[in-house]
Amino acid sequence: MQIPNLSDISTLLLDMDGTLLDLNFDNYFWNHYLHQRYAEIHDMPGDEARTHVHETLAREHGNLNWYCTDHWSSEFEVDILALKKEVTHLIQYREGALQFLQHLESMHLDVILVTNAHHDVIALKHQHTGLLDLLPDMISSHDYGVPKERTRFWHQLIKDRNLNQPTTMLIDDNVDVLEAAQQSGIAYQLCIGKPDSRRDITPVTQFPVMDDLSELTESALS
Ligand SMILES: [Mg+2]
Repeated sequence: MQIPNLSDISTLLLDMDGTLLDLNFDNYFWNHYLHQRYAEIHDMPGDEARTHVHETLAREHGNLNWYCTDHWSSEFEVDILALKKEVTHLIQYREGALQFLQHLESMHLDVILVTNAHHDVIALKHQHTGLLDLLPDMISSHDYGVPKERTRFWHQLIKDRNLNQPTTMLIDDNVDVLEAAQQSGIAYQLCIGKPDSRRDITPVTQFPVMDDLSELTESALS
C-alpha cells in the first residue's frame, strides 16, 4: 500500500505512544511492572496479582478508562503515576521520531499531537523527552470524554479545529483508531508497524505501514 506524500497534506495528526515514543514503556508497565508492584504493595502472591491485574485491565480495553490513571489508581488502590515514575528510564523516542519532529519544524504543516494519554502521563513523558517543546499543539481524548477508537472523537476534533479532511493525515499505531479516523472522513492514514522496540512487527494490511518516520520527511525535503 502506498505511503502518503507529505506534499498532499496540510494538517498532520500524530499519536504519542507507539508512534513518537517507544511503546515498550507502556507494555512493560502494564504487563509486568504493575503486577509486580501490586503484589508487593498488597502483599499478595505474584501469580494471583498478575491474574487480578490482567483481568481487571481487560474489562476496560478500548474505553477511555483504559487510558485513565485516576481510574486505575482507584481500582488497584495504588498511585499509578508514582509507579510509572519508577520506570521512567524506559520513556524514549522511537527510532527516527526525534529527527522526524525536527524536520517537521521546517515544513509548512499544521501538526497536532492527538493522544489517548491522560494529561498527567503526557506531562511525565514531556518531562523525559521534551516532546511538547517540539509539538506544543496537543489534544487528549480525555478533553472530549471519548477515546480515539470512536468516530465521535474525530467528528469533534474536525469541528473544533475546522480540519480540511481531504488534506489531513493521521499517523498512529492503533488500527482501531486509524479505522475510526478513516470512517470520519480523514483522508490519509499511516500505521506504525513496530510500535514497541522489544516486540515483533505487527502485521497490518488495511493501511500503509512505516517504521522510521524520518524517511517520510527526508523524502519530502529532498
Ligand atoms: Mg499509540
